[in-house]
Amino acid sequence: MKIGIIGAGIGGIATAVRMASRGYEVSVFEANSYPGGKLSEFSINGYRFDAGPSLFTMPQYVEELFDVAGVNMNGHFQYERLDVVCNYFWEDGKRLSAFADKHKFAATIEENLSVEKGKVLELLASSQKKYELTGRIFLEKSLHRLSTWLDIKVLKAIFHLPQLDIFSSMNEVNQKILQHPKLVQLFNRYATYNGSNPYKAPGLLNIIPHFEYEFGAYFPRAGMYSITKSLYELAKEKGVKFHFNTKVEEIIVEKNKAIGIKVNDETRYFDKIVSNMDVFNAYRKLLPEQKHPHKILKQQKSTSALIFYWGIKKIFPELDLHNILFSDNYKKEFEDLENGIIYSDPTVYINITSKYNTYDAPQDCENWFTMINVPFNAGQDWDTMIAVARKSIIEKINRILKIDIESLIECEAILDPRTIESKTQSHLGSLYGTSSSNRMAAFFRHANFSDQISNLYFCGGSVHPGGGIPLCLLSAKIVDEVMHN
Ligand SMILES: Cc1cc2nc3c(=O)[nH]c(=O)nc-3n(C[C@H](O)[C@H](O)[C@H](O)COP(=O)(O)OP(=O)(O)OC[C@H]3O[C@@H](n4cnc5c(N)ncnc54)[C@H](O)[C@@H]3O)c2cc1C
Repeated sequence: MKIGIIGAGIGGIATAVRMASRGYEVSVFEANSYPGGKLSEFSINGYRFDAGPSLFTMPQYVEELFDVAGVNMNGHFQYERLDVVCNYFWEDGKRLSAFADKHKFAATIEENLSVEKGKVLELLASSQKKYELTGRIFLEKSLHRLSTWLDIKVLKAIFHLPQLDIFSSMNEVNQKILQHPKLVQLFNRYATYNGSNPYKAPGLLNIIPHFEYEFGAYFPRAGMYSITKSLYELAKEKGVKFHFNTKVEEIIVEKNKAIGIKVNDETRYFDKIVSNMDVFNAYRKLLPEQKHPHKILKQQKSTSALIFYWGIKKIFPELDLHNILFSDNYKKEFEDLENGIIYSDPTVYINITSKYNTYDAPQDCENWFTMINVPFNAGQDWDTMIAVARKSIIEKINRILKIDIESLIECEAILDPRTIESKTQSHLGSLYGTSSSNRMAAFFRHANFSDQISNLYFCGGSVHPGGGIPLCLLSAKIVDEVMHN
């Protein structure tokens, strides 16, 4: 069987590994000159940066691909579990290290915030319950097939509906259990893991902390890009042919059946086509003549990001791999994001891989990936917004770390919603496809197959089950499953 895959993002590569492992002839067409899409890397002035994702969870899904391929992962890809998931800083001088061990974490909270340990453990237990009831069935299966809904696990989930907190927001659930404003803010932040607003997203999304505190947060030994690199090498080892600098122009459909793609004005024929590109653009650009699922395509997009990659001439012992400098008014920050603007004093995330890989920065220096959440691109005046945000980020860092950070910046690169869009073809530069702020969002993500065009499948962050590396890897698994059952 001949499979054509459009896009070498992490979802496309994972699909390629699965298809090639079945013995199929697989060709991947990628518009860029490199694999990985958002999960890529670059270097400037002796500093190496992971361009996009910085947090690695659920490594078992990477491991599963090596298993499927029958290749021993050791020697190809290595990772280690983090002891500290994140360091948190507030404007009033309060600091907190979130330990991965939930009991140690709860004890630190009790010591630092005077919140009884039991409350954090209660919240994490309810996250676990949510995962047990919904995780396997809603994240690992297609929501668009009857067989999923006939599964007894769905009945069990429906029976426990009140425990899923679908009708409360994440903030309401966190508020009810945790009460302490700093702790509520800390747990509300998990909504940003899929670009949502915790004041609107359903409490069901409180499943996310379970991934970190139960399954763990990890650091790939050779940086985040090694996820792309190792899976790309694995795909090649299984015989996948990659065609870079090759933008697919059209998906050829005959009698409601996908039969090939058009690249460089040439038609290439395949038995099945899998699109890893943003589903919005797949319809608008590659399937202009076909019927479009308008309701799905017009769903609100997730937030985007503004990143300053800075080479910093100093070591900061108080910082770790993941660091958050919180804003004082989280609610307003999310309201502004929904209104298409950047809050005047946004929460700042600093990721420093040189803490683990010293060769990612010159000696006595650090590679800072400094990020804030920003709205998706709706044609705002980004140049002005970026200049204003840069100033407020620097002021915040100076205040909280009591430093003059500007004088320590040796080199700088910037990624914003416009460049995210142009580099990865993500509609409006959103990071995670559709926003999950809506209670029904999961049901308005596109399926992993087309119900109008046979032999056409979809993977990646813009379709079910959603954005983020683990879910993109799962989308490849679901494509494989629906194709063969
Ligand atoms: C700044 C940032 C931070 C993030 N942080 C995290 C994080 O910490 N943890 C996490 O898990 N996730 C994170 N994410 C999200 C994660 O990166 C994405 O969900 C995931 O990488 C998306 O993978 P994908 O398979 O959808 O493909 P994408 O990465 O979107 O790639 C799609 C590919 O398709 C190609 N393409 C598009 N159109 C065509 C065409 N017509 N022809 C040929 N090729 C085409 C593009 O060039 C691109 O390479 C972050 C993303 C960004 C940008």
